[in-house]
Amino acid sequence: MEQKPYRILLYYKYVPIENPEEFAAAHLQMCKDIGLKGRIIVAEEGLNGTVSGTIAQTDEYIAQLRKDPRFADMPIKIDEADGHAFKKMFVRHKPELVTWRLEEKVDPNRLTGKHLKPAEWYEMLQRDDVVVLDGRNAYEYDIGHFRGAIRPEVESSREFPEWIRENFSKFKDKKVLTYCTGGIRCEVLSGILLREGFEEVYQLDGGIVTYGKDPEVKGQLFDGKCYVFDERISVPINQVEDVVVGTCYHCGKKEDRYVNCANPECNLQHIVCPECEIEHKRSCSKECEEHPRNRYIEEQKLLEEQKLQQA
Ligand SMILES: [Zn+2]
Ligand SMILES: [Zn+2]
Repeated sequence: MEQKPYRILLYYKYVPIENPEEFAAAHLQMCKDIGLKGRIIVAEEGLNGTVSGTIAQTDEYIAQLRKDPRFADMPIKIDEADGHAFKKMFVRHKPELVTWRLEEKVDPNRLTGKHLKPAEWYEMLQRDDVVVLDGRNAYEYDIGHFRGAIRPEVESSREFPEWIRENFSKFKDKKVLTYCTGGIRCEVLSGILLREGFEEVYQLDGGIVTYGKDPEVKGQLFDGKCYVFDERISVPINQVEDVVVGTCYHCGKKEDRYVNCANPECNLQHIVCPECEIEHKRSCSKECEEHPRNRYIEEQKLLEEQKLQQA
């Protein structure tokens, strides 16, 4: 297969960063100089980012990161792409890499679940003394998840601790397996589980994204697609079986494609099948369909004009 001209990088590391504000400003300048686009978070506790760029640009960025001893060994996941996956470049200083707002912070360098490589995870998944907890939000679960995983009824990481106490404590006698997109959320989530009294807690090393690339397990037992936080919205994981788990917002048919509502003032992300996308003009409601700046209608007009010009 021919190599695509762009790449999307995904990485994190929990490592102390002094003066995160200054670090963020310098890092933004460097990213802009290279020509990258994406979103990076800098906190006193570490670095978390996803950026897109050409092969040369991403190579340059990786080389710059590696020069810093703190990031010399940081795992970086690489996806090929046809173009940028972001519109702008942001580097933000925040109090936490993932917003948990715990009363007492969990430092994953001190308290975290045992990391499992994809092959070990695949084996553990098939045992009967385990419970699999999706460490993401409900809407991410809805287009794809590990077979048999429990869907947390949360809309953000902040809601996890309470949800665990109220709904998940009944599994204390089981081995808990947690996973998320790239692994970062499970670093703290597995620590929270340990603090809540769960005794055996494991996390998928490198997350779903790494699991999907493993040449041995080939994404097996992951059903549907993996939600990602860039313009692709979702990516395929399971190379052996293609199981669809989502349902169309309008007709209920099996579908795993998220789109943003074409009303620029709504933007609601919803799952839609190709037929309903046309019928409802990629909109979530009648009002959105009739919005004067409906993007779907504008796109169709543009396509029509192009066709006329070519004729
Ligand atoms: Zn439909
Ligand atoms: Zn809408």
